[in-house]
Amino acid sequence: MVGGPPSHVRVRVPCKVNLFLAVRGVRGDGYHEVVTVLQTVSIYDTLVAELERSGASAHPAARRFMELAFTHDGHGAVPVDDGNLAVRAARRLMAEVGMGTSDRVGHSGLPITRLHLHKSIPVAAGMAGGSADAAASLVALNRLWEAELDQAALRELAGELGSDVPFCVSGGTALATGTGTATAQVLTRGVYHWVVGISDQPLSTPEVYQAYDRIAGPSDVEPDAVLQALRTGDAEALGAALHNDLEPAAFELRPELADGCAALLEAGALGAMVSGSGPTVVGLASSAQDASSIARTVVDRFDRVEVAMSPAGGPELSCG
Ligand code: ATP
Repeated sequence: MVGGPPSHVRVRVPCKVNLFLAVRGVRGDGYHEVVTVLQTVSIYDTLVAELERSGASAHPAARRFMELAFTHDGHGAVPVDDGNLAVRAARRLMAEVGMGTSDRVGHSGLPITRLHLHKSIPVAAGMAGGSADAAASLVALNRLWEAELDQAALRELAGELGSDVPFCVSGGTALATGTGTATAQVLTRGVYHWVVGISDQPLSTPEVYQAYDRIAGPSDVEPDAVLQALRTGDAEALGAALHNDLEPAAFELRPELADGCAALLEAGALGAMVSGSGPTVVGLASSAQDASSIARTVVDRFDRVEVAMSPAGGPELSCG
């Protein structure tokens, strides 16, 4: 390759909102089957991956063994070890390309890959932050290590890491089925403006599904109205069509989320709902200006309020 391998790679990766989410039922292995329409939203984490050669050869063939060092600037609930999805993704890619690893960072003389994650996506918020970071890790290290896996191969690995990870590798807008890993890109027009109401108190996805199973059975709602609104770029129709089967379960566990949705609607949102399993609440605005004005009105209702737009593309890679 001209110019040789990059010494560092930066990937900026957006989070997601579920414009539609229907729970079809529980499989034998405990996973829920869903039908969901996902779209990336412009709140981003950034992963920087750097290769420190430590005197070892820079040639890719010399990287059969590699040390991995990981840091992040997120809060205490974000793991710094193999519990972090970005690290799990790195290890999975290492295994795929036949690379061994050593945890004795700085002591083996092996090349070191340093990963640093800058977190802005709210944690355990129903916005797929961890999944986005796993996707960022796969995309960044595929380039840094010159692994040369194509998008289909990356998405295959992604599916082993979590149900939203394949979507996060591609980004944009997708219809996902099964446990969420089977995705198809959706035709979409226009740009949508959101007010994002964020809570500092996380909500566990398994707990929300347990509450769902207690209060509701499999649903047969279809995403047609959302898909039609996206095809025509009609924000008003999209606002009316937003749907999340998990919302009653999230409201049962966190009643103040219903008040948050009501406040967004009262402030002029075209539609409002819980994002994924919550506790993030999103309101669709008719313009960027409206989004700012709604955000100002509801600012005291949430721990943090952001305005964002969608779709936000996919992971963006730059090399140095
Ligand atoms: P989803 O919408 O896919 O359900 P989420 O946005 O609700 O995901 P995450 O932000 O991915 O949830 O975090 C869920 C848990 O995953 C956290 O409580 C944390 O312990 C763990 N985790 C692992 N890796 C990460 C990461 N890179 N960033 C944030 N949390 C992570």
